[in-house]
Amino acid sequence: MGIKLRLAERMSRLGTETAFEVLARARALEASGREIIHLEIGEPDFDTPEFIRKAAQKAMDAGFTHYTPAAGLPDVRKVVADHLSKKIGVAYQPENIVITPGAKPVMFLSILALIETGDEVIYPNPGFPIYESAANFVGGKAVPYPLQEKDGFRMEGEKLKKLVTDKTRMLILNSPHNPTGAVLGKKELEGIFEVIKSREDIWVLSDEIYGRILYDGQHTSIAAFPGMAERTIVLDGMSKAYAMTGWRLGFGAMPEALAQAVTKLAINDFSCTSGFGQKAIEAALTGPQEEVEKMVAEFKARRDLIVAGLKQIPRLTVTEPSGAFYVFPSIKDFGKSSKEMADYLLESVGVACLSGTAFGKFGEGYIRFSYANSQKNIRLALEKIKTTLEKL
Ligand code: PLP
Repeated sequence: MGIKLRLAERMSRLGTETAFEVLARARALEASGREIIHLEIGEPDFDTPEFIRKAAQKAMDAGFTHYTPAAGLPDVRKVVADHLSKKIGVAYQPENIVITPGAKPVMFLSILALIETGDEVIYPNPGFPIYESAANFVGGKAVPYPLQEKDGFRMEGEKLKKLVTDKTRMLILNSPHNPTGAVLGKKELEGIFEVIKSREDIWVLSDEIYGRILYDGQHTSIAAFPGMAERTIVLDGMSKAYAMTGWRLGFGAMPEALAQAVTKLAINDFSCTSGFGQKAIEAALTGPQEEVEKMVAEFKARRDLIVAGLKQIPRLTVTEPSGAFYVFPSIKDFGKSSKEMADYLLESVGVACLSGTAFGKFGEGYIRFSYANSQKNIRLALEKIKTTLEKL
């Protein structure tokens, strides 16, 4: 194969999600006989609840195997609209909803639809790496909001104000937050709202994919603030709360005109989301919610376990996460970079985790553990981490 590949220039602006690379490395080590504890990947270790799997099987047998309307089946859009209206407190209609293969397309397509060359997009850093990647890719300027440990990794209005310029076109929020587990409560959201309330040209992409995985208090969305639903895209989906990562089912709620633009992009890209998958969304959102509650209770027990265990390790500092299933301890006292520390834990004791810099440059000095693993494995990992860090 002698032909030299010449990629389009825009590819140089595209980032990636290193979680998948670390997972591949950890799996390769496993294949060579090493025992690995996986605390790197952000997906529930539970099976999708049986009644949801059954609903998809039934739908497949009933013929939901064809193309569907690009934005989703009307009945399912209605179910999602009702679900989000209840969760968020905004009266969404089916026309506000676009159903997508996973929640990620909501991120990419809304940025593609709204951001012009040179438009500034403020995003949390450390944060989900695709925000920065997508904003830069479309020609925008990704402007990091450096989240700080001393603020509990929460965004604050006063600090946000300093980043807002005439060119700001979008603000990305993520609560509960990946990778820190921080939650934006009403107070923080009020502070943020104060900064942007008079700027009708600023859109908010509110990533609420972990909104159900919350350990204290109520989920609050910026979309519920006066006038904000008219310029907020709520990103949500089935992956995390219902343990359905591999099904690739997500959705966005947004003003109807934007939903139409995003649907047009969907038609150009993936056409539609599988019909039987959408029937699984319907079953999940209208069926019994006990399994979600059970999973969240288990995540909470694991959160308590891992936080208590990490606190026992000298020189590590830990901020207690209030949601999602991640903890983001500081490793600043060990004289290693985040990447070196993540590599060291994998090589020395077979504990896979992610470098804080996998979430942007302000993640330096931290590592992320995902506690979507059994309590038994978390206990074992804690012992191993403690033993090896004590040697440094
Ligand atoms: N947003 C955040 C903050 C995430 O952590 C993830 C997945 O890890 C997503 C969005 C994407 O979700 P999905 O797998 O449904 O595309």
